[in-house]
Amino acid sequence: MSEKVIIIGSGPAGLTAALYAARASLEPLVIEGVEAGGQLMITTEVENYPGFVDGVLGPDLMETFRKQAERFGARYIGDDVSKVELSQPPFKIFAGGQEHSAQAVIVSTGAKAQMLGVAGEQKLIGRGVSTCATCDGAFFRGQQLVVVGGGDSAMEEALFLTRFAEKVTVVHRRDELRASKIMQDRAFANDKIDFVWNSVVEEVVGDQKVEAVRLRNLVDDQLSDMAVGGMFVAIGHIPNTSLFADQLETTPDGYLLTGKGLVADWDPLSPFETRTNVEGVFAAGDCVDHFYRQAITAAGMGCMAAIDAERWLESKGH
Ligand code: NAP
Repeated sequence: MSEKVIIIGSGPAGLTAALYAARASLEPLVIEGVEAGGQLMITTEVENYPGFVDGVLGPDLMETFRKQAERFGARYIGDDVSKVELSQPPFKIFAGGQEHSAQAVIVSTGAKAQMLGVAGEQKLIGRGVSTCATCDGAFFRGQQLVVVGGGDSAMEEALFLTRFAEKVTVVHRRDELRASKIMQDRAFANDKIDFVWNSVVEEVVGDQKVEAVRLRNLVDDQLSDMAVGGMFVAIGHIPNTSLFADQLETTPDGYLLTGKGLVADWDPLSPFETRTNVEGVFAAGDCVDHFYRQAITAAGMGCMAAIDAERWLESKGH
């Protein structure tokens, strides 16, 4: 039997889509993935999700989302999707050795942190290498830390880490930051933050835990070791969209494209779209949005995707 709608992914976008689709009696099937809950599962305190005066823990927030959608009839499968066939409805979704079919699909597979890909990095993840200051910062009390990157995320991570660290050194590959003015000003004003310009981390040194980073200065090509207890990588994100390659249109970076230029009846008065180039397939959250990347914006897009899917199903008489 074909489902009315399958939602792939279970971060704020997927679970909000599930809530709206469930309340519209579409009995959505959510394929959660083995890392259910998305990036908020590796976040501690969330202070900017509206409705929580005192903040909320990321995993608690996602559990609340999940239960709320379940209350209205959302169903969950804890497997990863291995393959999709989106040429025409009913769409086929393969997960956990099972084939599922659906008249509409909402893709909300999120994004993951990009890594440097240098020697020692993979081996020392969780042993001093981290992509999440809010998750791991408190483990580095009184230590010297390095943050790699020059964007807003890197500044945010560095500023947060000054709560715990003795000193935070930002290593950036150019001599100017990409971060917004306000974040740059905050970082420059913090006397616990130092900058190493025109440099890249070439190796993470350490056996059981991070002991140093080997830096290469890109101007004079000199190598130097900096003793640190931890390295936080903040060089951007990669959308989890490889499953959809050659089936859905993406940017060169792999973010799914929606709306303008892809759908015949695009409405400039309603520019925020979740429709992809395949009729009946919608996309929402960080797999689409490389700019805002907030739980609340992802949730908002999930709501839009469910409404768009519902309207589309209705127009097709389902
Ligand atoms: P981003 O703006 O793309 O910045 C990535 C940074 O990493 C850049 O400085 C880039 O260097 C550097 N980088 C990329 N690949 C690298 C590599 N292989 N080795 C070394 N350095 C590398 O990403 P983001 O900081 O994650 O921000 C993404 C979006 O979220 C932005 O729109 C940002 O404004 C937003 N955001 C906002 C806030 C806030 O306002 N509080 C917080 C976080 C994120 P180059 O500069 O040389 O390219």
